[in-house]
Amino acid sequence: MSWLGVEGHDAVVERFRRALARGRLAGTYLFVGPAGIGKRTLAMRLAQTLLCGVCPETEMNPCGACPACRQVVAQTHPDLLLVSKPPDKSTIPLELLIGPPEKRMREGLCHALSLASYMGGRKVAIIDDADDLNVEGANSLLKTLEEPPPRSTIILIGTSLEKQLPTIRSRSQVIPFRPLVPEALARLILEQGLASDTDAATHLARHSEGSLERAAELANPELWTFRGELLRRLAERPLASLATARAVTEFVEAAGKEASAKRARARTVVGFAADYFRAAMRAGAGGSPGDDRELAATIAAAARFGPIDVDRAGGQLERTLDALAQIDRNAHLVTVIECWLDDLTNAGNQRLAV
Ligand SMILES: [Zn+2]
Repeated sequence: MSWLGVEGHDAVVERFRRALARGRLAGTYLFVGPAGIGKRTLAMRLAQTLLCGVCPETEMNPCGACPACRQVVAQTHPDLLLVSKPPDKSTIPLELLIGPPEKRMREGLCHALSLASYMGGRKVAIIDDADDLNVEGANSLLKTLEEPPPRSTIILIGTSLEKQLPTIRSRSQVIPFRPLVPEALARLILEQGLASDTDAATHLARHSEGSLERAAELANPELWTFRGELLRRLAERPLASLATARAVTEFVEAAGKEASAKRARARTVVGFAADYFRAAMRAGAGGSPGDDRELAATIAAAARFGPIDVDRAGGQLERTLDALAQIDRNAHLVTVIECWLDDLTNAGNQRLAV
């Protein structure tokens, strides 16, 4: 079931349906869950519900055709305030929240929210990238979150509760979002044209950790070609760490100029290796390597060097997960990749010598 095209979050939709039916909509909500699973889409549909000029909000069925609905979609509705982190900034700039220094509290989100509604109805503010609110930014919001102006609703969107400052958490009603189940994700993948048929969509969904954003990253065929190469290299004994590090670094660099694109690609590539070691552990323990044909073939190829050692594969998986954590902590990518592969080789070769 989907509400206005929002897949996989029926429990959240139900929660809002009940709140609206009882006239008990909260002033501030905090949506938390992995990136790319539909939190922002749901927030926008909710804004449309609250601002539609035709359909009562309790019905949660905005008409989609009235001027208000169209303005929400076009993001031009005067009672819909949107704030997100600009791509070239690492935090949400203070002026977006409380105006530039010379116009403090006379511009920005908090000021706009304090004004009367243009259309005489509700006001809705959506603050995306709440993970990137710094202490100053969060503090500037406290008064507004504490006592939101009447008939206004603020929705903050972040990826996890841990990443939100305690001052924000304590003033919000937290709405957890779960990753999309593979079936719902596969439907969205097809709908967005990220895969050409059901089989390809199912395959992509299985690798995307419940995230459409992740699926869009993985929809690039170059990634899968490189994955084949990486798997072949990982199955070799001894593992040629220098050559592999060079190949991985080159591929990561080719992701684009943006540091974030390189980091995302590094995460994907190292994630492929983690999948391999996980499957190797399962196979080494006598289980099936899983239903991924390419992984199974690679494990069969690795077995020509002797039976798979579960402890060794476990150690290599652990080291690979460390590398993933380092990538997320913004460590220097080339160093992370080189040290990771070097450690994998050493782990592999020592065991082989015993
Ligand atoms: Zn409408």
